[in-house]
Amino acid sequence: MPTSLIHHPYTPPADFEAVPPGVFKASSVLFPNVAALRERRWDDKSAYTYGLHGTPTTFTLGARLATLEGARHVLLAPSGLAAITLVDMALLKAGDEVVLPDNVYGPSLSFAAHELVQWDIAHRLYDPMALPSLAAALTPATRLVWLEVPGSVTLEFPDLRALVRCVRERAPQAVIALDNTWGAGLAFNAFELGEEGGVDLTVHALTKYPSGGADVLMGSIACLDDALYQRLAWCHSRSGVGVGMNDVEAVLRGLPSLALRYAAQDAACRRIAAWCCTQKTFVRVLHPALPEAPGHAHWAALCQAAAGLVTVEIDPRFSQTQTDAFVDALRLFRIGWSWGGPVSLAVPYEAAQMRRLPTPYRGTLVRLCIGLESVEDLIADLTQALAVLQSLAGPETL
Ligand SMILES: *Cc1c(COP(=O)(O)O)cnc(C)c1O
Repeated sequence: MPTSLIHHPYTPPADFEAVPPGVFKASSVLFPNVAALRERRWDDKSAYTYGLHGTPTTFTLGARLATLEGARHVLLAPSGLAAITLVDMALLKAGDEVVLPDNVYGPSLSFAAHELVQWDIAHRLYDPMALPSLAAALTPATRLVWLEVPGSVTLEFPDLRALVRCVRERAPQAVIALDNTWGAGLAFNAFELGEEGGVDLTVHALTKYPSGGADVLMGSIACLDDALYQRLAWCHSRSGVGVGMNDVEAVLRGLPSLALRYAAQDAACRRIAAWCCTQKTFVRVLHPALPEAPGHAHWAALCQAAAGLVTVEIDPRFSQTQTDAFVDALRLFRIGWSWGGPVSLAVPYEAAQMRRLPTPYRGTLVRLCIGLESVEDLIADLTQALAVLQSLAGPETL
């Protein structure tokens, strides 16, 4: 009985078509004969060999993401962070140096400081808002330069074209990698920035906007160059990095509404950022579309869109306990990491503890990620939480 339930003669009719792409799950991929097993290649994606090397479902997501990013090749990783560390592992060897912006996504720096260093790979930091700082960090040993726009939490927008030009001139041997999670493939084309061309590869936390559901972790690596892709693909395959097909399906389901959600969250976030500018308790409002925000001109030269993130600096006369009470008082904004989902989120940060280079920020920073709730309700929520904060402050504190 079990055998005939497994090796059943029925095969469904071919030519099924529906709106969502099919979800093909596999560890074993079956071959019609030994010759096929011997001949099939996994690395050019022309055939299937083993679940880890791809199924029609991962190839479909990869092709759609390549279109989104303006790339030719895409690899999938189980998280955005896994995509970042895979790039590091694939492109760096003992004696090499990697260069990171000081406002890089924190765990990327942690990987350099704790893992890469053990493999005799050094890292150097640069201030992405000061070109000489990048120039000074580049050496003949530099093999990989990370860019990120805008900076993590503080959202400074660097001159991406100038950074790329600087690396091409001073460290032509280095691969330029961009963490493109904020731009999501929508705000600008990282592979065609202008006369200087573009970056060599992007990584994207699909966890954020492409998923849109706050329910899946995934990352991608995208590139144009065939030889670079092969280096990355071999490391991807040899390190056993794979993604689950239910997760791929979740991202495929999010993609059709990606541009609409991004635009809606961008528009909502700009309204909230403008409102935050009217609140005296927020001494700085950090959002690249605001004229006074750091790097606004660079943002305006490259993008029209912005993601749904805004960071406010709370008046430094409030204590950390008081600013924590402000975040605790929020009702619609929930407390949690990540962004791009339906629920708005808030996280407090102490800038001085996040950076190695000096920062102008003295008060607690609160990063707000705007979800899909109505803007009026979110502003009402911020208003009532600000009232809680004011009620906590004695006359001696203000
Ligand atoms: C979230 C994020 C990542 C990491 O993505 P995970 O899927 O959470 O590992 C990397 N870079 C940026 C800029 C991010 O926002």
